[in-house]
Order: sequence, then structure tokens, then C-alpha cells
Amino acid sequence: MLFDSHCHLQFKAYKDDFDQVLKRCEEKQMLLNVVGSQIDTSVRAVELAQKYENIYASVGLHPIHLFETHVDEEEVAFKSREEDFDYDKYKKLARNKKVVAIGECGLEFFHLPAGLNKEQALQKQKEVFLAQYKLAQELKLPIIIHVRDAHQEMIDLLREIGEPINGVVHCYTGNWEYAEQYLALGLYLGFTGVITFPPKKTDPKAQEDLLEVIKNCPWDRMLIETDAPYLAPQSHRGQRAEPWMVEDVALKIADIKRTETEEIIQITTNNAKKLFKL
Ligand SMILES: [Zn+2]
Repeated sequence: MLFDSHCHLQFKAYKDDFDQVLKRCEEKQMLLNVVGSQIDTSVRAVELAQKYENIYASVGLHPIHLFETHVDEEEVAFKSREEDFDYDKYKKLARNKKVVAIGECGLEFFHLPAGLNKEQALQKQKEVFLAQYKLAQELKLPIIIHVRDAHQEMIDLLREIGEPINGVVHCYTGNWEYAEQYLALGLYLGFTGVITFPPKKTDPKAQEDLLEVIKNCPWDRMLIETDAPYLAPQSHRGQRAEPWMVEDVALKIADIKRTETEEIIQITTNNAKKLFKL
């Protein structure tokens, strides 16, 4: 049974054909973790989880939404809406039985509003991350960590906490050196369709490094995810991603680990169930 440990089926990208997308997932008898990025998408994630048995929810505030900024990428362009983290609001939401994690939350240095000093941004992102970590601790839930261009800062922050961290670094695309440190802190690593991409001409080493991480990652610390609607695997590149595409991620891991895809599917589903206490 496939488990997409991180997707955003509540996003507008699915507003016209949500039922068909879900049906394609149900045909594969999948489990899904629908992850919130701010309060409204967290509320919608919980609503979906309450409605569908195979859907679980995570609630949190993504660092991109701490500031108003324009995001423009290969697959998506939007204006992020600024939000302050309201501990009690999220706590109330997270008390729902189908909520399995707090997040996504973390550090994001790739998208920063023009004119904002990096130090100030880091300070704010750290504070909001720590508040969400505290909530996760209070409710005994794992945490879903987003990191972009800030691995050293995140590792330093987690070390300052000074205890093993129960959670996952989602969409891991860093090198083995950072990966080892996250693993030592007790975290899982979540892999997306990015692992199926060919090396970038401008930076071929990045993909080599990522595949090395998969080769070295202990079997009991790997999760698979799509991060849908983003990051469709190579065979669907440029399209809107859907959770069933996570099978391509399992296939790629199986190829690197020299085993059957079915075994990777089983192991990663067990890992997700263990992390999310299902
Ligand atoms: Zn995400």
C-alpha cells in the first residue's frame, strides 16, 4: 500500500477535479497526508481528513507565509499572504483525531521578500518554527520540516533544542553531510519526484549528491512523498503532480537500493505509519 506522506490535495490546483484525482488515488488504495501551509489550507486539510478515511492531515504555517512575497517558479506563481502564527488556533485544529503532524514549518531562504534583511527574516522564521515545535511537543505529534537553502541554520537550531527530534525533513534535496546530521537528530528524510530528475546542466553535482543520500539512507528512515501539486516526477514533468505519482519515487529508490519497488512501498508505508502513529 502506497503512502504519500506529504501532498496538498486541498490546494486550488484540484478545485475542478478533486473527485477524479482522489479516485485515481483510491484505485491504488493509497494513504495520504494532506499538509497545511497556513491556517486556511490547514483547516481544509482537516476537513478532507474528516471526510475521507484514507486521508490524514497536518497543520502548520509554512515560512513562506510569514512575509508577503511574490513567488514565481517553473510550476507555480503566486503571491504569498502574510500570517502571524496563532498558537491557540492551530492547537485547536491539531486536536482533531485525524491530525498526524504539525507542519509544514521551517526555514526558507530561497524566497525572501526584496528589501528584507536575511538576519531579520531568519529571526522571525526561527521564532515561528520554535512555536510550532513547542506545539508538536505539547500534543506529542511529529513535526514536518521544510528547509530551503538553510540546512546549516536548521541543523544549528535543532541542536539548540537539545533533544531528539521526532519528525521528517520533507522534500530532502541536500547532500549526505547534512542528511547524516538530520538522521543523528532522529529525523526521517522525505523524498519527492526530485530524485527522478536528470542532473541539472548548471549544477550536475547536486543530483549526484542527492542520489548518494538515498544510497546511504537507512531503510527505516525513508519516507516517500509527492509534494503535489508541485514537483511531478520526471515521467510527468511539467504537469500538475497527483499523489499516485509517488510510485515513481518508490521505483527510483528501489533502483538505487537494488531491490523491488514493492519492498520500498511496504517499508516507506510502515515508516510513515510509525512516524504518524497510525
Ligand atoms: Zn509541501
